[in-house]
Amino acid sequence: MKSLPILFLMILILNSCSYSQNKPNTTMNDSLKKTNPIYSNVDSAPVKMSEEEWKKHLTPEQYRVSRQKGTERPWTSIYEKSTDIGTFYCAACGNPLFKSDAKFESGCGWPSFYEPISTTSIKKNVDNSHGMIRTEVVCGRCDGHLGHVFDDGPPPTGLRFCINGVVLDFEKAKAAEKNYENKK
Ligand SMILES: [Zn+2]
Repeated sequence: MKSLPILFLMILILNSCSYSQNKPNTTMNDSLKKTNPIYSNVDSAPVKMSEEEWKKHLTPEQYRVSRQKGTERPWTSIYEKSTDIGTFYCAACGNPLFKSDAKFESGCGWPSFYEPISTTSIKKNVDNSHGMIRTEVVCGRCDGHLGHVFDDGPPPTGLRFCINGVVLDFEKAKAAEKNYENKK
């Protein structure tokens, strides 16, 4: 009988482990993506949509950041601390932007990367707003605002792409493999 409380405790621990793995997989963003006519992880052709159209296909916070150059509150993105292996895409158009290999812990409060997937996956603009001279980073496909790049990053590039997590989509490497298997 002595082992019963231990057994009970083990069942509790096992149960809580399985609950923590049941992450919600349907978000508002996922359902909007399905109806977004230009969303694609493979089409790199530039996209243009009216502001009215963008409003229909983005969450209000995504619209504020992507189309109105807003900034999400620091430390609020689920991707800020995430160490999962996979690819980050533009949440507005699906363009591949950054690989998790290039992600690093910058401590600035936003997901940070030292390089984009390719030179064409992002574009840089001079940003003179708020009394500062900064380099804005926008999506290379839809021109949506992503964040800024600074020159205080780690090797090999010395750059820190400081990106708003709300305009990022993430696909785990394993999930991508599974999708590929299902399509075979
Ligand atoms: Zn985009």
